[in-house]
Amino acid sequence: MLTVFGTVALDTTRTPFHTVERTLGGTATFASIAASNYVPTSIVGIVGNDFPGLYMEILKNRLDIRGLSISETDKTFHYDSSFGYDLYKRTTNKTELNVIANYQSTVPTAFVDSEYVYLANNDPVQNMNLLNQVSHPKLVICDTMDFWILNKRDDVIKMINKVDGIILNESEARLLFNENSILKCARLLVSNGPSFVLINKGENGSLLFYENEFYPIPGYPTETIKDPTGAGDSFGGAFIGYLCTQGQINSKSLKNAMIHGNIMGSFAIEDYGIQRLVNIGNKDIKQRYEKYKEILSL
Ligand code: AMP
Repeated sequence: MLTVFGTVALDTTRTPFHTVERTLGGTATFASIAASNYVPTSIVGIVGNDFPGLYMEILKNRLDIRGLSISETDKTFHYDSSFGYDLYKRTTNKTELNVIANYQSTVPTAFVDSEYVYLANNDPVQNMNLLNQVSHPKLVICDTMDFWILNKRDDVIKMINKVDGIILNESEARLLFNENSILKCARLLVSNGPSFVLINKGENGSLLFYENEFYPIPGYPTETIKDPTGAGDSFGGAFIGYLCTQGQINSKSLKNAMIHGNIMGSFAIEDYGIQRLVNIGNKDIKQRYEKYKEILSL
């Protein structure tokens, strides 16, 4: 079983074309919904007393939500961000931690023996606390972002030390090490513990660093882009979800996992919030996978 830990949020996303307010988002939400296309997935996290019942139903329909707590006294994590006309560069307007500020996760007994753990972008101290409760995970992958690198860099490094793989985007990798070359960032990340590193470069695809080799993969070409929020988390969820089905880590399984990650990211951006992700099935994934393979072999 795969356990995903991270934020379950209400997102306000502003683009020059449309604004959505307090829609279902959060790193654990995107990652676990994406992963659930591949493996049974459980989610651990917390929401507040303002979390709509309809959103809980969406999560319940796809995931094991026994690890999702509801606070009676505080509000759900809220993230407010804007994109410019290129729908690429994001500006954070507000990060309201609310319920996650002092959250101490408890992993339900049923998930303690999870073989696979995805620590979505979240407070690194809380991520490590969750990981300590899992008995012997076979594969642990984490993500992080500028907010935590700027506020808790030392803890981010400690967390990286405890995982098998890390996924982050290029600006976060540069910020973490104050280093311009992403290849050098990948080497620095591996020197801190993980055996593989994945750096996402948005529409320019992603770069895998594993056993001293770099493997770049272009992004899946999508004509419809409405909201890039959650593309990275969807990538991460599909990436680990696919690896769960493979049982072993090698350059082949990692490269295929990247393809699945890019495909899921391409679906995520086609509509606002989780809209598109909850409307795709195996057939859509397979279709895009075949097309992608055809493109890559040119
Ligand atoms: P991304 O895949 O990078 O686009 O992630 C977008 C998601 O990250 C949104 O749904 C937000 O709710 C969530 N988010 C934003 N800031 C943070 C943060 N500091 N910690 C955890 N989650 C966050």
